[in-house]
Amino acid sequence: MKSYQIMFNQELISYDVYFKNMKSIRIRVKEGRIQVSAPYYTPISFIEENLYKYQDKLLPQLKKYVPYAIYQNQGYVMIYEKKYTLSVRDVQIMKCQIHEDVLYVYHSRIQDCVEMYLKKILMDYLQEKIIEYLAYDFDLDMPLIEIKKYKGRWGSCFYKDNKVTFNLSLIHLPKDLIDYVIVHELAHFLQANHSHLFYQEIEKRMPDYKQRQKRLKEIHI
Ligand SMILES: [Zn+2]
Repeated sequence: MKSYQIMFNQELISYDVYFKNMKSIRIRVKEGRIQVSAPYYTPISFIEENLYKYQDKLLPQLKKYVPYAIYQNQGYVMIYEKKYTLSVRDVQIMKCQIHEDVLYVYHSRIQDCVEMYLKKILMDYLQEKIIEYLAYDFDLDMPLIEIKKYKGRWGSCFYKDNKVTFNLSLIHLPKDLIDYVIVHELAHFLQANHSHLFYQEIEKRMPDYKQRQKRLKEIHI
């Protein structure tokens, strides 16, 4: 992969080019960045010609992207859809604290420090919610819960190990979507595959699961 820059409306925009064994070029926007796939030896001038041609489509897509977190002093992080400004007070302690809508970070390794904190908040929520679901909706043993940084999945169920794992990025979402992921993973203890029966088990416990599932699909991680 190689990165280049192009001027769109007097704004310098970075883009990545992946040279591949393919016949024509492909342009897309992912996580607020233009990605071009092009056949080997495609001249950059030809790629830029195409980028200019589609700039009216690309620019709105670039502007639309709002990251869940910017890990720097006076950056921010979204927790359950609410925005907290990061305020770094480096005393070399891996600790964070929320006061109103400011999240104080006490270490210079900002991202590590905040993620440790987010993991703890999410774990507390998952535990509490899973205990509740087991008490009322599922006749299961308490599973082992793990939180990971996944790309492209919200959770996993390892039913043979009585373990469920969840994506740390869930912490940025509204709670009703997190709840859908919880019910989804717990339902895998009843039905391993995404069969009709599996979704029936979900629907019994969460009648509006379809709209939650749809909203979740629109979020790319
Ligand atoms: Zn599943």
